[in-house]
Formats: sequence, C-alpha cells, structure tokens
Amino acid sequence: MQHLPYSKNDFGTSPLMFYYETTLACDLACKHCRASAQEKPAGDELATEQALQLIEQVASFPRKPNICFTGGDPLKRNDIFQLIQHAVSQNLTVALTPSATPLATRQAFEQAKDAGVQALGISLDAPTGAVHDAFRGFDGSFRKTCEMLGFAQDLKIPVQINTSITRRNFHLLDAMADFLGSEDFAGTIMMWSVFFLIPVGRGLEEQRITPPEYEVAFEKLWHYAKEKPFAVKTTEAPHYRRFVLRLGSNPLDVPRPFKFAKGDRENPETFSRARHRAPLGVTDGRGIMFVSHRGEIYPAGFLPITCGQFPKDSVVDVYQQHPVFKALQNPDNYKGNCRRCEYRFVCGGSRSRAFALTGDYLESEPDCCYQPGQDPLYAGL
Ligand code: SF4
Repeated sequence: MQHLPYSKNDFGTSPLMFYYETTLACDLACKHCRASAQEKPAGDELATEQALQLIEQVASFPRKPNICFTGGDPLKRNDIFQLIQHAVSQNLTVALTPSATPLATRQAFEQAKDAGVQALGISLDAPTGAVHDAFRGFDGSFRKTCEMLGFAQDLKIPVQINTSITRRNFHLLDAMADFLGSEDFAGTIMMWSVFFLIPVGRGLEEQRITPPEYEVAFEKLWHYAKEKPFAVKTTEAPHYRRFVLRLGSNPLDVPRPFKFAKGDRENPETFSRARHRAPLGVTDGRGIMFVSHRGEIYPAGFLPITCGQFPKDSVVDVYQQHPVFKALQNPDNYKGNCRRCEYRFVCGGSRSRAFALTGDYLESEPDCCYQPGQDPLYAGL
C-alpha cells in the first residue's frame, strides 16, 4: 500500500519526528550538549519494558512518526538493539545517533543494521581534528567520527551529519561543505543537518551567531544544497525556509527555482517543491515530539516545558490535546514579528530559542532579522 506523504493536515494528530532520549549516559563532554550528558546512566531512566511500551505507543499515532533513538549516547544502553528491533517490528522508521566513543564499533553498527536501523545521525562540527576535538572536549573524536563514517560506508547505512553552528565554526562552513562533499563519503552522507545553537544545556549564549550571520549562512546552505551530493536542512532555524521562499521574488544571484502563485507561500508543500528537504512547517511541537530518558514529554529536545509524564500520560493524548502542543501547532498564536509574518505557516521561528531567550515559547524568533510585510505579494496580510 502506498502511503501519502506527511502533510500539514497531520500536524494536529501525529508528529513527523519522534525523538526518544534513551539515556543521559555518554562518555563525551561536548561544550554545547543539549542533554548535559553524564558518564553514568541516571537511576530513573525508563526500563526496558517501559521503553518497549513507549515504542508501541509511538506506533499507535494515526500516522506513524519516524523515531530517532538519541541520548546521551544510545549505545550506552544494553538493550538498544532490542529497542530498535521492536520499533521496526511496529513498522516505524528508525534512526540512531551514536556518539564518537569506543562503543561505536563496526560490530555495533552491524548490530544496528541487522536490527533494522535505516539511518545514522553522526555529529561533526568541523572539518579538522583540532577544531572538532576542542568542541567535543575529547582528543581523537574527529578521528573516531571519520572511522564511524567508514563503518557506515562499508555497511551501506545512510548518514545524516549533524553540525552545531556557533561562533567557533561559523567561518568554517565552506570548508565543512567541501569536506562532507568529498569522494571519500560519496553515497554515505545523504543529509547535512545544520543546527543553530539554542542556549540551553552547555550551549552558551555568547556562542550564538548574529541574525545577519544567519542570513549569510542560509545563502551558503542554499548553494550547497544545489551543488553538493547531499541534501541540506536546518535544525532550530526554520527561517531558512523563508530565505529559500523569498528567492522566488528576490532571486539574488541564484536561478529562480520555481514560480510562486499568489497564495502559494502559506502552503507548506511549496517548500518541498523547492527540492529542499526541510519539510513543511515542521517545528517544535508542530510535527516534533521529544521524550526524555525518564519519560518527560516535551514539544522538542530544546524546549524544556514538561507537558506530561510517560507512562502515566499517553504520548498520543499529549500531542493531540495538551494546551502547549495545541498552542504551538497554530502559528496564529505566535507573537511579535512571527505573528505578523507572512511566512509563519512555513517558518514560525524557533520556539525553543524564543523560550530560551524570553521565557515565552510563543514569542517572536529572537534571531531573525526579517521584517514582515517586505514581500510585496503579501503586503497587508
Ligand atoms: S519573523 Fe518569524 S515567521 Fe517570519 S521569517 Fe522570521 S522567524 Fe520566520
């Protein structure tokens, strides 16, 4: 049976991406770690039986989400391959984000593949060992990450590279794109996910780039998406979609990718036609859901507003009914520029960054320099 792609009609009933933070344990100590990971597992992380039950609940959404087992380091969980197998048996598409530690062996990757993992998320913050290792707080992390990419290549497991952009590596974007696009990784790196810092966990506010620098980064990403052998998406920077959509009327030096009709811009599907993978208007709580190692339910990993507690609460009920999720799912609830913005249905700004910097998850995206109403097609909307 052929399934229709996830659409804006699914926002109110099912997430597109479900992130399960399987454990806080990780042997690294990265400077910008969302989870503020620790060496040993927390005593209250979900036990195997509860984790299996959580997976079944995820599979019971009207439209099955993709599930990502994250952490900490998911390989620190002894039952991780059992969890993967169970998710696959429930017809879920599974991704895994192993950390670059000695646990990430070829054998572990083989086991993950045998269990049914369909993609790996691997973190890489710079194209050189000196910068990447300083980021990660661990000498040899870059070498280990390259080794992991080699395992994935041998085993033909598609990889998404996750890069956190901060002041430390902003100037390295071009070098990073060239590195990832090299022949060495041909056919393995399918996606580059560029994460724009949220100052939570160990992510420090002074490491944020400025709003104009976001625009510089967006233009670079747009070019990479056309020229490099991998797709590009942003994480916690949905205004990249606004940047791409505005090329329709303001093409800069970029060939016009497609023509917009009036009324097209609030249609999230338009973005997908632009051949970029950051889909629809997915953002925190609107197509995204996150469950912590101890079962707390959040709209996103970077938006620490507890909306429920698994197993006491059903993740399906929370996604469909909790007032915070409901508020996030309607961009007309956003405030300031994001409320007035003609791109709110495809962008909406990072709700996590708004919360981290203002304490209000509905406030305007603090790191967007677009002034609503600049688009002549939408004057007065
Ligand atoms: S104002 Fe808000 S909705 Fe509009 S482009 Fe900027 S972040 Fe997106």
